[in-house]
Amino acid sequence: MFELNGKVAIVTGGNGGIGLGLARGLARAGARVVVAARNQSKSETAVRELRALGSDATALAIDVANEESVNEAFEQAARQCGRIDILVNNAGINIRKQLHELSLDEWRQVMDINLTGAFLCSRAAYPHMKRAGGGKIINIGSMMSIFGASFAPAYGASKGGIVQLTKSMAIAWARDNIQANAVLPGWIDSDLTRAARQQVPGLHDRVLARTPSGRWGTGDDLAGVAVFLASPASDFITGAAIPVDGGYSVQG
Ligand code: NDP
Repeated sequence: MFELNGKVAIVTGGNGGIGLGLARGLARAGARVVVAARNQSKSETAVRELRALGSDATALAIDVANEESVNEAFEQAARQCGRIDILVNNAGINIRKQLHELSLDEWRQVMDINLTGAFLCSRAAYPHMKRAGGGKIINIGSMMSIFGASFAPAYGASKGGIVQLTKSMAIAWARDNIQANAVLPGWIDSDLTRAARQQVPGLHDRVLARTPSGRWGTGDDLAGVAVFLASPASDFITGAAIPVDGGYSVQG
């Protein structure tokens, strides 16, 4: 039910943090993982790790915010691997500034990578999934798909958008046997949040106090949900947004 042997999975931003955790889960379940990100030396390191887990992993250079780069990368992946079955839209950035301090360029950067990137990659994956008779799309949202934060206006808007985009995708492509779901990670230890802990005073302790599980998450905490949403076990689940947050979002 959870086996992914013979499946090809593209993980954007799969070279570190949450993306690598997701990729490890998919690799262990048997998928051939394509690590798609900008920093190729980081991607090669991730590929070596995934190969050690038994995946026939490869690295692919992509800028998810650039339409041409996305279309070329997906054509290349399909040529190399013969098919695309699973897409994880995980690439993301944050620019932490108060709304009145954020420039238009900064707003666009965050929206282009976090939200437009997911649209471009999903659109590029669609014909390959349709041809294969089905597919799985996993979009990475955030607690800020639910909550607001004064220091993350563009990030919150992009992650709220991810949930709504997921619903549209789920409906549009259900008859093609493509399921699209969102995952909303809680506070996970990664390069992204290491910067946040430095930039936002008191954040580390606030997260610990509010998370019922009493700890920050790790990339590997996302591996199980990735396998579930990529496998036949979730064939009748589409358009959902699943928190993976140690209970953060249910704490009043
Ligand atoms: P990291 O900064 O560790 O990883 C971000 C990844 O995105 C990197 O692999 C980076 O690779 C890639 N990336 C960034 N811009 C682009 C681009 N233009 N094109 C292709 N790849 C890109 O952060 P996390 O692992 O923490 O975050 C991963 C996802 O999880 C993000 O969407 C984030 O918003 C989300 N998230 C994180 C949470 C957390 O607590 N950490 C909580 C909730 C959600 P490269 O630089 O090589 O391109």
